[in-house]
Amino acid sequence: MSLLTVSNLTKRYRRGEKTIAAVDDVTFHIDSGETVALAGPSGSGKSTIARLVLRLIEPDAGRIEFERGDFLALSGAALRVRRARLQMVFQDPLAAFNPRATVARVLDDPLRIHRIASRPERPRRVAELLERVGLTAGLATRAIHEISGGQRQRVAIARAIATKPSLIVLDEAVSALDVSVRGQILDLLLDLQRQERIAYLFISHDLGVIRAIAHRIVLLDAGQVAESGDARSVIDAAQSAIGKALVAAVPRLNRIIRQDAS
Ligand code: ADP
Ligand code: MG
Repeated sequence: MSLLTVSNLTKRYRRGEKTIAAVDDVTFHIDSGETVALAGPSGSGKSTIARLVLRLIEPDAGRIEFERGDFLALSGAALRVRRARLQMVFQDPLAAFNPRATVARVLDDPLRIHRIASRPERPRRVAELLERVGLTAGLATRAIHEISGGQRQRVAIARAIATKPSLIVLDEAVSALDVSVRGQILDLLLDLQRQERIAYLFISHDLGVIRAIAHRIVLLDAGQVAESGDARSVIDAAQSAIGKALVAAVPRLNRIIRQDAS
């Protein structure tokens, strides 16, 4: 069943005298429990689509349906309620959170704001969230800037799942991590998806990572969908010029594709 349906989405920006379409008539959908990757070169419109889907910015045209409702029509309390079901993880949690805040504070916020747990209950809920993302409860008293990049991204994921979302938008969420830490975070995302049936809009420029985690892929070129389909099929036999160019740019990926084929 379609969880998120984006139809004919368009967002234009003025650049001097000209207007450019950062997102140009984009249509795709995500089913419950599914991972759809949004890929494409830098500047192709990936982050703009993320911001539109999260309603951090408003589109010039198009529709967004989320959990069977017109998401763009929501405002006030109805929007706040629905927003809890749609969470985000960005590349740099140091920029997303107050670096001096404690881990406990970062995780307590959504529980309080969305009234998920009462004050006396919340410390236990924070400890549970930490445990679910593979962190010890002892980390709760540490400041965000004191913990490692991998631990910070686990905290960002814990915060995202605190409100029991049906969809998490991850914009280059593993791109800044070392290869081994990246693998651990991808495993965590897969575990959470299996346990909770969370869908991911997984934004990345790394086709190797996408091939490992995504069910389907939407490949963007200059704000438009160049091709889309089953992630492995598209990556292993790209049809579009941009798809071929992106695959050719990753020698490691070509080895993976050949290994799998043999
Ligand atoms: P990506 O995430 O794929 O690298 P973006 O969505 O960030 O791409 O950007 C797509 C295009 O829109 C780029 O040409 C970028 O310069 C432009 N753009 C994005 N945000 C803004 C903005 N706030 N004002 C003007 N142009 C923007
Ligand atoms: Mg981006």
